[in-house]
Amino acid sequence: MTTESDTAFKITRKTDITPAAEREAMLANPGFGRVFTDHMAVVTYTEGKGWHSAEILPRQPLMLDPAASVLHYAQEIFEGMKAYRTPDGSVQLFRPDANARRFRHSAERMAMAQVPEELFLEAVTQLVKLDKDWVPKPEVGTLYIRPFMIATEAALGVKPASEFKFIVIACAAGEYFSKDAGPVSVWVEERTVRASRGGTGTAKCGGNYAASLTAQMEGKEHGCHQVLFLDAQERRWLEEMGGMNVMMVFEDGTLQTPPLDSGTILHGITRDSLLTLARDRGLKVKEERYAIDQLYGDADSGKLKEVFACGTAAVVTPIGTFKSTEGGCTIGNGQTGEVTSSLRKALCDIQFGRAADPHGWVKKI
Ligand code: PMP
Repeated sequence: MTTESDTAFKITRKTDITPAAEREAMLANPGFGRVFTDHMAVVTYTEGKGWHSAEILPRQPLMLDPAASVLHYAQEIFEGMKAYRTPDGSVQLFRPDANARRFRHSAERMAMAQVPEELFLEAVTQLVKLDKDWVPKPEVGTLYIRPFMIATEAALGVKPASEFKFIVIACAAGEYFSKDAGPVSVWVEERTVRASRGGTGTAKCGGNYAASLTAQMEGKEHGCHQVLFLDAQERRWLEEMGGMNVMMVFEDGTLQTPPLDSGTILHGITRDSLLTLARDRGLKVKEERYAIDQLYGDADSGKLKEVFACGTAAVVTPIGTFKSTEGGCTIGNGQTGEVTSSLRKALCDIQFGRAADPHGWVKKI
């Protein structure tokens, strides 16, 4: 779809912004995804007109026609990215261009209007600039940014919509998993699948997440924090978690993760960054399929030393145990491994501006 735009942002500041003391109290222990900033960015798309009416305005409920396509046919996509506070107090984004590109990919798969990368970056930058006091101290967390797009056309026919809204909201984010929990336990989902070949696995669309929730509930009933999905065809190859990619470390130091060529796995930006950092450090890196029965065997024999989940929200989260209907296994001694810790540190040091950024990943606000 076309992308002609009139997209200079009109800024309407909230008159009664959250008082500093109240904001600081909310930021002391924000949890994840509940403490929202004062503003939001909204840009409208109309077929024939392109993107227009770009605005930053006080965060508020949306007005939607009850026939809006998003409510019926789930034409919706989103992104997840973060702003980090650096030691000198400034604020920076991590690889925002990669989120903008993935957003375009998701839009294409879901037959939605393309948000030009410059518009995506401008909306995110303007919002973070205005709400930068909401970026927590680094020892507490980050500002999680949620750009998303919904189909707003009021029409009950199954067809690509002709009207969309691109919106950006942001919230303070502490640890995704409780800090005290240490390595997490993961439920191996054998009943449902997240994505199949030709499906929407590589798009970040809401439907993928709705479809993953029964597995998450089942995992929780078994005392697990997260779910590992297997491939849809043979039901044995590791794919990814509900909202993270997965990586293994073997006794010879090799770092392995499932490849992206199946077209069923989300192209994680954390995944890509960690593979680069691992190569920089001279680790052997393999993007190859790995079967769940092999994981159980290698965990038992001691060949598989570490497994971790990685994503913007979860950063690098060690996995201590896998559970399934047939039993499960413990990874290493169930504690956080050395490679997991050192890769997490290397990534966070760049994101929080504590280390040099040799790949040009950070963008100051
Ligand atoms: N897989 C899924 C299904 C996800 O939702 C996410 C989070 N966006 C990831 C992987 C990790 O992607 P990223 O590192 O870009 O956050």
